[in-house]
Amino acid sequence: MAQDGPVRQSVRLGTYAGIPVGVHWSVAVIFGLVTWELADIVFPSAYGGTRAAYWVTALVAAVLFFGSLLAHEVSHAVVARHHGIAVRSITLWLFGGVAQLEGEAHTAGADFRIAAVGPGTSLLLVGAFAAVEAFMSAAGVHGLVGAVPSWLWKMNLLLAVFNLIPAAPLDGGRILRAGLWARSGDRTRATVIAARVGRGFGIVLVVVGIALFVGYDDVYGLWPAFLGWFLFVAARAEEGAAMVRRGLQGLRVRDVMTAQPPAIASSTSVAELVHRHLPWYRTDAVAVVGPTGWLEGILPLDRIRTLPPLSHADTRIGDLAVPISAAPVARPEEPVEDLMERMAAAGGAPAVVLDANNRLAGIVTAANVDRTIQVNGVRASRR
Ligand SMILES: [Zn+2]
Repeated sequence: MAQDGPVRQSVRLGTYAGIPVGVHWSVAVIFGLVTWELADIVFPSAYGGTRAAYWVTALVAAVLFFGSLLAHEVSHAVVARHHGIAVRSITLWLFGGVAQLEGEAHTAGADFRIAAVGPGTSLLLVGAFAAVEAFMSAAGVHGLVGAVPSWLWKMNLLLAVFNLIPAAPLDGGRILRAGLWARSGDRTRATVIAARVGRGFGIVLVVVGIALFVGYDDVYGLWPAFLGWFLFVAARAEEGAAMVRRGLQGLRVRDVMTAQPPAIASSTSVAELVHRHLPWYRTDAVAVVGPTGWLEGILPLDRIRTLPPLSHADTRIGDLAVPISAAPVARPEEPVEDLMERMAAAGGAPAVVLDANNRLAGIVTAANVDRTIQVNGVRASRR
C-alpha cells in the first residue's frame, strides 16, 4: 500500500535507503499471532519435529515475512522518490505497511509505476522463495526447514494478489486510477472512481467478515471485517480529498488570496489589533511588519482565538505571527492545488503571495481556501 494517511504511535525501527521505518504497536500482536499459528498449528500438523524446532522455525519465517512486507513498502518509496516525491516514512502496522508520501504523482505513468512496483516486488519474492524451495528439495532437504520458503512464497503471493485488487487505497486501486487518469486526463475523476470502488470493496469485506463470524462462528471472520472497515474509511477520506481538489480546480492563487492585507507593526499588542485595527478591515490575516517596514510574518486571525483573552494586552502580534521563514511562498498566477500541497507540507502554515517585483501581493490562509471550496460547492450544486 502506498498512501499518505498517517499511521501514528509507531516505534522507530531504523532507516532503510534513507527513509525512516517505524513499527506500529499492532505489529507486535500480528507478529506474535503469526509465529504462534506457525509454531503451534501449521508446522506440527505437517512435519515432525520438537516443540523448540517448531518455534525457532516459526520465528525465522515470521521475521522473513515482515522483511518481505518491508521490501514491498521500500520499493514504493524508492520509486516515489525517483519521481521527485519525498517519502516521509514507512510504517508497518496491522494491515501490512504504509509508505507515507509527501504529495502525489504528477503524471499517470508515475502514479502507475509507484503503485505497481509494490506487488511486483512481492511477486519477485514469490519467485525467489519458490526457487529456494525447489533448490532445497532438489538437494534433498525436506521437512520443517523446507516449510519456511514454501510458506513464504505463498504468503507473498497472497500479499501481491490482495494488493492488486483494484480498490483504493490498495495498490490495485492506484493502478486503476492511473489507467483512468491516462485515458481521461482527469486525475480527480479517476481518484473518485477508484475510491468508490475501494469503498464498495471495503463494505463487501465487512459483510463477508461478519457473516463468517456470525454464521460459521469463525473468529477469523473479524479479520476481513476490520480490514474492510479500514479500507472503507481510507477510501472515503481519499474521495473527500479529491473533491476538495475538484473544488479548487482551475483556480489560481490570486482567486483565493486575501489581496493587499493590512500591514501592522509587530510591536502592536493583540488587544490593540483587535480593537483599533480590525474594525476597519475585512480580512483573514494581517501582514506583520518590523520597524523598517520589512515583512516579518503573517498572522492568520484564527490564531488569536488560541490565545486566552487575558493575555491579549501583553502579547505582541509579532510573537503570535507565523514567521516569514516558515511560510510557503506563492505567485498569484500559480494553481491553488500546487500551493495546497506546500501549505500541507508546512503543517498548514499560511502562504505569502509575492508579485513579480517580490512585493507582498496577498496572503493565503486555510480559511481562504475553505471558503472558496464552500462557495464552489454551492455553485456546483446549483447547476
Ligand atoms: Zn503496496
